[in-house]
Order: sequence, then C-alpha cells, then structure tokens
Amino acid sequence: MVLEIVKYPHPVLKTQARPVEKIDDTIHRLIENMIDTMRQAPGIGLAAPQVGESKQVMIADISSVEPHNDLIVLINPQIADAEGEMVGEEGCLSILDFMSEIKRYARVKVCGLNREGEMVEIMGEGLLARVLQHEIDHLNGILILDRVSSLKRNLYKMRLKKWMREGRED
Ligand SMILES: [Zn+2]
Repeated sequence: MVLEIVKYPHPVLKTQARPVEKIDDTIHRLIENMIDTMRQAPGIGLAAPQVGESKQVMIADISSVEPHNDLIVLINPQIADAEGEMVGEEGCLSILDFMSEIKRYARVKVCGLNREGEMVEIMGEGLLARVLQHEIDHLNGILILDRVSSLKRNLYKMRLKKWMREGRED
C-alpha cells in the first residue's frame, strides 16, 4: 500500500526515531508499505519517519541507478565504521524542490537487523554509502537542510513560506 510521504516542516522529521523492540506483523506491514511508497515516488531510499512512523526502519534500493544491488531493509541501523569523504548532490522525498551538495563519508559499514531479525552488516561506498547515511540521518531527526549553510536553509524556508501562502499543494 502506498503511504503518504510526510513533508518538511512536519515535526516527525525532526524527531529521533524509536528503536524497534519486536519485529512483528506491524513492522512487516510497515516495511511492505514503505517499499511500495518508495517505488511509487520513485526514490532510492526511505525512512519510516517519512511515512509518519517514528521507528528505526529504513529501506534502500539503488538498483535503478546501479544494477546488481538488492533491496536493503534495515532495522535499528548504526554506522559502525566510516572513512573518507565525498561531496555530491542530494535531494529528499520529504523536501520539495530542494537539491544541494552534501558532504558524506565515502565508505560506511552499517550494522542493523534485517526483516527476519538477524544481525547484518552492509558495506557501502559511493551512492550506496550516500543513501545509507541519508536514511540513518532521517532516523536521527536530521535532514539535508540541517547539513547545508544557514543561508541556503533560510532561503529555502522563505521559498516554502511563499508556496504555502500561495496554497501550493504536494
Ligand atoms: Zn530524505
């Protein structure tokens, strides 16, 4: 089922998501719905707060850009190791019409649980490293707007206010 994607400045996006304590049917359903929602958007990653659920669940699928990558589902993910740095353009399904260069670690090792509750370790570099860091940021209530200069952030907030005054939808 495709869910509605929560947009900035909704407070759930600024909230630290709660760790999942039990991987039950509710979590499985949430994951399935997040996959449908990401594919429909379309996007290459999605975190549960983006569908209004303050839970530490994220998914990523970069196969549309780099084939031979599988869908990744991570519960309670943590960056266990990181090195290097890279700068590249990023956008976010929760932030309308905003793209910016964002600095990230070039390589990350992420630990977390898969859908079956097994501990998994994912090594990512390049785009995958970027998506993993972007989605884990979401679980910590951090948006790409928090990673740009205050000038850029304020310009965006002004644009957003104008759209709201003009009654722009979506
Ligand atoms: Zn995002």
